[in-house]
Amino acid sequence: MSALNPPFTGEHEELRASVRGFIERELAPHAQQWEEDRWFPDDVFPKLAAQGLLGLKYPESYGGQGGDYLHEAVMCEEMARAGSGGTAAGIGAHINIATPPIWKFGSEEQKQRYLVPAIAGETIGALGITEPGTGSDVAAITTRAERVDGGWIVNGEKTYITNGVRAHFIVTAVKTTKEGGHHGISFLIVDRGEGVTSSKLEKLGWHASDTATISYQDVFVPEENLLGGLNEGFKLIMANFQWERLAMSLGAIGAMQLAWERTAEFARERQSFGRPLSGHQAIAHKLADLATSVYTCRCVTHDALRRFVDGEDPLKEVTMAKLLTQRACFELMDACLQIHGGAGYMREYFIERAARDARLGPIGGGSDEIMREILTRVIGL
Ligand SMILES: Cc1cc2nc3c(=O)[nH]c(=O)nc-3n(C[C@H](O)[C@H](O)[C@H](O)COP(=O)(O)OP(=O)(O)OC[C@H]3O[C@@H](n4cnc5c(N)ncnc54)[C@H](O)[C@@H]3O)c2cc1C
Repeated sequence: MSALNPPFTGEHEELRASVRGFIERELAPHAQQWEEDRWFPDDVFPKLAAQGLLGLKYPESYGGQGGDYLHEAVMCEEMARAGSGGTAAGIGAHINIATPPIWKFGSEEQKQRYLVPAIAGETIGALGITEPGTGSDVAAITTRAERVDGGWIVNGEKTYITNGVRAHFIVTAVKTTKEGGHHGISFLIVDRGEGVTSSKLEKLGWHASDTATISYQDVFVPEENLLGGLNEGFKLIMANFQWERLAMSLGAIGAMQLAWERTAEFARERQSFGRPLSGHQAIAHKLADLATSVYTCRCVTHDALRRFVDGEDPLKEVTMAKLLTQRACFELMDACLQIHGGAGYMREYFIERAARDARLGPIGGGSDEIMREILTRVIGL
């Protein structure tokens, strides 16, 4: 990526070099083992914190680096170099979806109690919205919080929650009115403790991450853990989605770039019919198409990022970036796997894992279909 590639400056490119170095040194060599273990160790969080990487966009007063979303964007792009979608997802859930609502909507006391230790890597967070009965239709959640003296009693179940086993706190969407719907959702920060149980799920990719079902049984949550306004949770969900979708788009372009580089290298080295694979026009043309796809996705994502950082409300551009990049990433991985031939189907080659990991993109954080639903409204169809 060019150092002059807007919206990044030389300072961001310096950060990129340092983040990349850390990821390639400290995370990538363990990727295979962590995938086999179906878990990456919790001490990855304090290690990242020691480098300032859990708080790039947060103010120094909370232990952050005092940067902004552009610094975080660099991290999102570089995480692909960990070589493990699951590890990137666990770290990303903490940085990009669990802590931002506390920063944005939390009281000063909540920031001290939850954001500060999370940035220091002492605690791990998760965001719990999806339930067994509903995902895309967020307003249909049924986990309920009933008012009691000094707080709430929460009952219900969340599922597919990233960091769902290891998280110390879960930023949880609950129904706080009988009617529910858009106007009856609130957020509670739920500490792991009595009544909170998790069970880990097996899945196609992201093996190093703990995606889990979390059950809440008569969990008492104190009053001071209400995050944002009562019955105003939908606003929080919508605000959070914009950065989550941008972060996923940035992650996709990082992953696409890396896969392209490695596949081009493979195609230059692997011989068939007396010449390198890249010497066959069909393969060279495919690689040219894939480079075009990486470039297109990068332009669209960086445009949405620039608007987001400039304080616009780029719902259309972020939605388009998410829709474009997640499908393009999976298609690129599939094409790269094909260029690897039988090797692409083997566990020892990175592309086997990258292709499985990329399949989540068009589903998570709002599916392709939901992105199209949003776009039809935004563009006035
Ligand atoms: C590995 C993984 C990690 C995840 N991490 C988290 C997390 O940390 N926190 C969290 O809260 N959630 C998380 N999720 C949940 C994820 O956000 C949901 O799976 C996603 O939003 C889709 O919801 P669903 O699975 O309930 O599918 P559904 O909503 O049941 O949809 C099923 C299918 O129907 C389509 N569909 C639904 N409605 C419409 C419509 N109106 N028009 C056309 N098509 C439609 C969908 O696009 C999809 O293809 C994770 C999921 C996975 C797989």
